[in-house]
Amino acid sequence: MNSLTARTNSVDVAIIGAGPAGAVAAALLRKAGRSVLVLERQHFPRFSIGESLLPQSMAYLEEAGMLKAVVEAGFQHKNGAQFIWRDKSSAFDFRDKHSPGWGTTYQVERAVFDDLLIRCAAEQGADVRFGHTVSAMQTGSAPVLEVVAEDGEAYQVHARYVFDASGFGRVLPRLLHLEAPTGMPTRAAIFTHVRDGLPLDATDRNKICVATHPERRDVWFWMIPLAGGRSSVGCVAEAAFLDCPEHERESKLRALIQQEPTLSRLIGEAPFLMPVRHIGGYAANVERLHGPGYALLGNAGEFLDPVFSSGVTIALRSAHLAVKTLERQFNGETVDWQADYDAPLRKGIDTFRAFVERWYTGELQDIIFYPRQTTMIRRMISAILAGYAWDETNPYVADPVKRLETLHEVCKIF
Ligand code: FAD
Repeated sequence: MNSLTARTNSVDVAIIGAGPAGAVAAALLRKAGRSVLVLERQHFPRFSIGESLLPQSMAYLEEAGMLKAVVEAGFQHKNGAQFIWRDKSSAFDFRDKHSPGWGTTYQVERAVFDDLLIRCAAEQGADVRFGHTVSAMQTGSAPVLEVVAEDGEAYQVHARYVFDASGFGRVLPRLLHLEAPTGMPTRAAIFTHVRDGLPLDATDRNKICVATHPERRDVWFWMIPLAGGRSSVGCVAEAAFLDCPEHERESKLRALIQQEPTLSRLIGEAPFLMPVRHIGGYAANVERLHGPGYALLGNAGEFLDPVFSSGVTIALRSAHLAVKTLERQFNGETVDWQADYDAPLRKGIDTFRAFVERWYTGELQDIIFYPRQTTMIRRMISAILAGYAWDETNPYVADPVKRLETLHEVCKIF
């Protein structure tokens, strides 16, 4: 995959980052017959957080020619989400939802998943260079990237267009000063993998478990069963709540898990399979998702919050929409990146934003645990939780803020 000899440094599209957004964009561009160069600063497989996919993402994997590889990889099947708070439990089955489309997906070790996707892109003809870091860019109708290879060699890449899919690296937002306020408080997560050793009927391995802290509705845990008897476990809270020296993270996470009865029962003293990691201040936003000669994909553009596992789905949606828009431009059409890419992508992000904000106020939790919800409304909410946040036939997509406020008027009585 690494073409250190005979480097071609002039391509149709240069992509910064080989995560899910970069890999799917590369494969879709190759399908359209474009030359693609992916520059990735790390070597794969590499750890990444974000292990629970949403069914909506399957359509993009399918279109990118990656479905067979993903299905055959042996990842943990996923069909929904289970929410828990004190003695309340509410499970959504994503196969029962308002929007048409995939109702199941996978829970994946991202090191394996991301490696698989970029290998698929390379098999389709993308030139992928690991250990190559993008350090600067000249924007314009003929953008130029400055790249540093790990042997220290610096070189330039000339492209007709650049996709920044650098995730939390946020290469172009930083270099071009595109960053904007997120409106989200600074939250953090501590997490690890555990050897769960659970009996088969102890929990529904096909669902992510999202458990709210019994006393703090703005603090929540995830348990994501993975293949092979391991689970990903984490806690999300405002940054100060999780603050502790690195050597105390393990005891901090264990103590927090003990405070939530369901996770305490499921995880107990199960061994941690890796040091507890910390990530904070991940919420990010930009003024615009495009500029002269470039577009921002996935987390390089905007990231809200992990609570609804929407990150990879938004990343793949952005890759799909950016490629469609760029193809029209390459084919001679006049393209308005604001109207054709930025605004439509943000429509779904804004749906998730309305849900995320009301999750932390507790309003959405009231709605989720409300025992007398109509089947129709549960199916509409299920569709959004499954990633169908752009389907405007769903009233909770068309006008999420108003709809959720009205619905909460009913549910808060509970
Ligand atoms: P990434 O996967 O981050 O890939 C970006 C790549 O760019 C990296 O490989 C990086 O090395 C490379 N790069 C960076 N800088 C440079 C440079 N200068 N030059 C070259 N390469 C560079 N999402 C979900 O869908 N489900 C979840 O359950 C979920 N849980 C989460 C939990 C937490 C605590 C957090 C913080 C996020 C979670 N997410 C989840 C979000 C998910 O991690 C991201 O949305 C997803 O990884 C974004 O993919 P991407 O392709 O945009 O970027």
